[in-house]
Amino acid sequence: MATVRSLLAQGNGKLGSAIHTWSLPAITTCPGRSAACEGVCYAARGRFALGAVRERLAWNHAQSLRGDFADRMAREIRRKGCLVVRVHVGGDFYDRGYAEKWLAVMRHSPKARFYFYTRSWRVPEVVPVLEEMAALRCCRAWYSTDAETGLPDHVPPGVRLAHLRVAADEQPAPADLEFRVRRLRAARTPLSVVCPHETPEGRARDANCGNCGRCWR
Ligand code: SF4
Repeated sequence: MATVRSLLAQGNGKLGSAIHTWSLPAITTCPGRSAACEGVCYAARGRFALGAVRERLAWNHAQSLRGDFADRMAREIRRKGCLVVRVHVGGDFYDRGYAEKWLAVMRHSPKARFYFYTRSWRVPEVVPVLEEMAALRCCRAWYSTDAETGLPDHVPPGVRLAHLRVAADEQPAPADLEFRVRRLRAARTPLSVVCPHETPEGRARDANCGNCGRCWR
């Protein structure tokens, strides 16, 4: 009997084991990317560069182009009883049609909780769809920023801001959450806005997305 490949994967070291994930090839599917995020993108190196992972991400991308993608994804979420789905560990909403497929998935899966970080707020055709996602009770939407993107002109209801710090001397950005590149994570910080997985204090207590929950609760 043929094996049916799942669309979703489950967990990783940062997310914990209970969160289901969906990813695409990074950079090529990120129309809102900045040079700053592209230069430090974790999803373009390390294990993401392994042949098997690249093949898997290319397969995911091909599935996302299919007309039955939203139905298949919603069915799989129901069948697996997914409680939390992280959309795009790698990759982003690459165009409006693809974003609309995820909006349909979310509307048909109200028992699951979805969350994502996106720079596609910089792509005007995608923004209305992101705003519809952010308005759903089952969705937690984050707009990703960095020193290069600056802040969005408009932050829709339900959207929070996640800033990527790439330099120690950057001015603090007005954001609900701060991520830091690896070389900046050793510094102790009094800032509660920093992702605990990226601080020495949080690492000491094994903080991960599953037991933290700030981004998806
Ligand atoms: S703040 Fe918490 S939930 Fe958000 S990315 Fe960091 S560990 Fe995960």
